[in-house]
Amino acid sequence: MRISKSTVLPGNVVSALLPLFLFDSVQVQASTTTNNSTKDTTGFRPCDALIAANLSHVVHLPSSPSYPTLVEGSWTLETQRSPWCFVHPRTTSEVSETLKALRSAGKGAGDWHIAIRSGGHGSKEQSSITNGVTIDLTQLNATTYNAGTNIASLGTGSRWGDAYTALEEHGVSVTGGRQSVVGVGGLLLGGGVGWHTPRRGFGCDRIVNYEVVLASGDVINANASAHSDLWRALKGGSSNFGIVTRFDIEAFPAKNLTLYRRTIGENHTDDYIDAIVQFANLDQSFQDNAINSVTSYSPQGGITHTVAEVNTANDPNTTAFDGFNRLPESVPGTKQSTNLPGVANIGAPELKEKNPRVSGGPTTIANDPRVLRYAFQQHTSLVADLNVTLGAQNFSTILEFQPLPSWVADIGVQRGGNMLGLERTPRNKLYFVLGVTLSTTESQKQQSQIYQKAVATTQRIRDFAKSIGSIEEFVYLPYADSQQDPLGSYGAANVEYIRQVAKKYDPHGFFQSRVPGGFKIDRVG
Ligand SMILES: Cc1cc2nc3c(=O)[nH]c(=O)nc-3n(C[C@H](O)[C@H](O)[C@H](O)COP(=O)(O)OP(=O)(O)OC[C@H]3O[C@@H](n4cnc5c(N)ncnc54)[C@H](O)[C@@H]3O)c2cc1C
Repeated sequence: MRISKSTVLPGNVVSALLPLFLFDSVQVQASTTTNNSTKDTTGFRPCDALIAANLSHVVHLPSSPSYPTLVEGSWTLETQRSPWCFVHPRTTSEVSETLKALRSAGKGAGDWHIAIRSGGHGSKEQSSITNGVTIDLTQLNATTYNAGTNIASLGTGSRWGDAYTALEEHGVSVTGGRQSVVGVGGLLLGGGVGWHTPRRGFGCDRIVNYEVVLASGDVINANASAHSDLWRALKGGSSNFGIVTRFDIEAFPAKNLTLYRRTIGENHTDDYIDAIVQFANLDQSFQDNAINSVTSYSPQGGITHTVAEVNTANDPNTTAFDGFNRLPESVPGTKQSTNLPGVANIGAPELKEKNPRVSGGPTTIANDPRVLRYAFQQHTSLVADLNVTLGAQNFSTILEFQPLPSWVADIGVQRGGNMLGLERTPRNKLYFVLGVTLSTTESQKQQSQIYQKAVATTQRIRDFAKSIGSIEEFVYLPYADSQQDPLGSYGAANVEYIRQVAKKYDPHGFFQSRVPGGFKIDRVG
């Protein structure tokens, strides 16, 4: 039976269904008869459970007008999935009701699952799903600031551009992502690298309190004095414990950043590598400086190197970038002094691109020029190969390097400890990611083959780094490929810690078995 608004129903049924008609989120599409009682059903057990829990106003079945937009809430075409229904809670208490309802929908014998999504920038099926329900947290997007405590509170569903803009009005900022469109939740739960990381550590190192909804539906606060084990485990431990609804973060005074984007031709690769290595070996007195090095192939420009040089103290005359200053530029850049929301917005339009990307995931290495040279050679060989396999017009690449100075690990320890385990090897490091974007329908048909090439190329670089003692175990979770084991890379002690904390706060393993997306401690060997 399909219930239309003109169907005559008994009074108690009408009041139970009233929210459906008011909000038009859900259309009940069928009915089943059990023991002489008729039960309206969407055809999807977990969606029925959400409706039965009076959440119909935030449940979106495929027939809902909002459903297509919700599907597109995941960043690339590759990560967009059409679940049985979305639930789009507006408050922490609706997240709690959602989890209680979904738990009541069955123990997991069937093959349906749940995805949790904040900004939807995670790769593959980290935050989207087909057989099951996606909990979309983007309505939990408030940013507030308490001047008395100097704490900024960010809803998990906000995006960095909006959060920075809201905080700028109070004259403060926090350590978070470098691109405005990226989500707050996934980034902070995996660590969080931003322009201020060299001075202030990972984003997670400044979090003083997490508001968390556990699988039981209980809402707790995890900080240095209450549930401190969970507070520490959440700093890099990702989605293994509960749904974080709010991050309370120590703020700092906002200041303009000086930004310079330098473009260097492929013929200066050797000198460019030396400049990266020199920068990544600077001592802590240079902690107001950061770079992001992107070498890319594009059909228009061939292979070029672009380095974003940022001084977070707004000093245009810093000597930190002297190694790069010596290199001839292929396109002259302009030095800008811009606030953090402005810097985060640079390049935002290009990031709307939905084409699939494949990558072998991040690799951490010692700051050793031999590995960088090998990596750049491998990238050039890959581009030559793809020119033949795909055609020069049908793809682009990136080889991205980011320094991880040794003292960043010390900041983590001083701030109460995180799970990343970087303090195990106190040397300057870099991490890199090599990726390929498939920009035409024709090239997208060969996605698996190109993925295999990207992984194999990355693996060759890892093997080379290992052979000369310059590989690091650490895998940065927010960039990790599904074949990698970032939690395992934190080291045995931290793996055991995460395991124990996950068991304590989620004793029935709901987030291990029902929420398979992302990196799960039960899957670490
Ligand atoms: C264009 C781009 C730029 C980037 N720039 C940076 C950068 O500057 N610095 C950096 O560190 N990283 C960066 N990243 C990586 C980024 O941190 C990850 O993609 C991260 O997953 C994004 O968070 P999200 O909320 O958008 O992800 P989502 O896909 O929503 O979530 C990622 C994972 O976290 C889980 N999760 C999300 N929210 C919650 C929650 N509230 N509770 C429990 N589990 C949750 C999801 O289930 C999923 O497994 C960038 C990525 C992209 C695509």
